[in-house]
Amino acid sequence: MRSLILVIFCSFLFSSLSAQSLYVPRDVKKAYANGTRAMDGRPGKNYWQNHARYDITMTAMPPDRNIKGTESITYVNNSPDTLRNVIVKLFLNIHKPGAPREGGANPNYLTSGVHIDNFAVNGTQTKWRENPGLFTWQPVGLKQPLLPHDSVKFNVDWHYEISLESGREGMIDSTTYFLAYFYPRIAVYDDYAGWDVMNFVDSKEFYSDFNDYTVTLNVPKNYVVWGTGTLQKPESLLQPEVLKRFQQSMTSDDIIRVVTKEDLAAKRVTTQNAVNTWQFRATNIPDMAFGLSDHFNWDATSVVVDDKTQRRASAQAAYNDTAADYHYVAGYARHSLNWLSHNWPGIPYPYEKTTVFQGYAGMEYPMMANDETYADTNFSRFVAEHEIAHTYMPFYMGINETRYGFMDEGFATFFENLIGTADLGKEKADELFKQFRVDYWANDHSQEEDISIITYGSGVHWATEYAQQNPDISIDILDLRTLLPLDYEAIRVAVKQTGKVLLLHEDTLIGG
Ligand SMILES: [Zn+2]
Repeated sequence: MRSLILVIFCSFLFSSLSAQSLYVPRDVKKAYANGTRAMDGRPGKNYWQNHARYDITMTAMPPDRNIKGTESITYVNNSPDTLRNVIVKLFLNIHKPGAPREGGANPNYLTSGVHIDNFAVNGTQTKWRENPGLFTWQPVGLKQPLLPHDSVKFNVDWHYEISLESGREGMIDSTTYFLAYFYPRIAVYDDYAGWDVMNFVDSKEFYSDFNDYTVTLNVPKNYVVWGTGTLQKPESLLQPEVLKRFQQSMTSDDIIRVVTKEDLAAKRVTTQNAVNTWQFRATNIPDMAFGLSDHFNWDATSVVVDDKTQRRASAQAAYNDTAADYHYVAGYARHSLNWLSHNWPGIPYPYEKTTVFQGYAGMEYPMMANDETYADTNFSRFVAEHEIAHTYMPFYMGINETRYGFMDEGFATFFENLIGTADLGKEKADELFKQFRVDYWANDHSQEEDISIITYGSGVHWATEYAQQNPDISIDILDLRTLLPLDYEAIRVAVKQTGKVLLLHEDTLIGG
């Protein structure tokens, strides 16, 4: 009888599968129905995105670890919804003791997080209240709801202490800082999930609106600032010879040594005001990040990324002179811009520049990468190419990396393999791919088990219960979920994994 029911169920499943197409989650279905998304992947006729303008002025005076900022945010509600609250993201609260994190935290990574010193909504001073159970985001109620197509202005003063141990951001050394994710920002409110309230737990990355930014950094003399966006008035910041080299690099295919260790020693790099004010601007960009140092070399070159318009993009590197590989990194960055623009994805590099900054992160930011130094220059190039490939995914596409991290890593890894094949040949590129993208997971010894149990339905619970009662046996349980379609690949993996299989099912012996 049960078999008969199963057969009927399976044929029902089969016919409904062939009649419909792939499974569509409810939120996506809703977006199709509302016309904000279209079945072919293009924006629907009712598509919208919210947008903000950030004007940030900040002060960093190394070796003082205090970073202070004052910020205005004009947030525009392009959605058809009335918003009674906003979500403010405070990513650097990941450094607070007790913050949810996917990994552990070294004492040198911990800080007291971001402190909000002043908060105003539409010019009215408002008490900043934090829910102590929340870390990287806080809800903020609006006394006056934000109506569709209206905007609200926030003024925020904040400060934080840069962490001694650098992860995706932090101190590289006592006079080299990498500043990222530092400013309080409004979370994404989108058409299919509403407010993004996912925690930043350090492993999964970010989701951002396309915003406009003006960021002003006050730093001591002899500090150079590299960052996202167009540097305003370089002539007021750089001494004439350095300025000339910097400008030359914008039209030259050669690698120009804009700042060398000799220039740094002779203090002939920046204008000799006690404090220099560096300003960067960018529009329609998901984020801004900056690196600053008083002892980093600066190389720059450029390349035509758009053959039609002859637009060039700048490729730069900022590094400690002792990092031997970094003397080639501007060239690797230039090669990446050129190759990605002309081959895969074959879309002209969408920004004006990229800067690879020596740090510890192996991490991408719009127009920036923060990469370690390596003894093997092939590997330095491999990492630079990967991080620069991320320009397209997630930044240019604006995807939600927190929820769908596989998308941007998938594409960046795919581009990395293609450019690697062009650089080193297929055999070497595939070897690197296997070494860094496959072996670690394929040979994960924590996954090794004594026996595989293939089961479904109640059998899953019996098998789980048995495994718990018999901790001396390491059991791999495969829950088939459906018999039609039957997941042959999962079965093949389960059999191969242990070489021993037990089939467990709840049917009667006869007709089972
Ligand atoms: Zn990546």
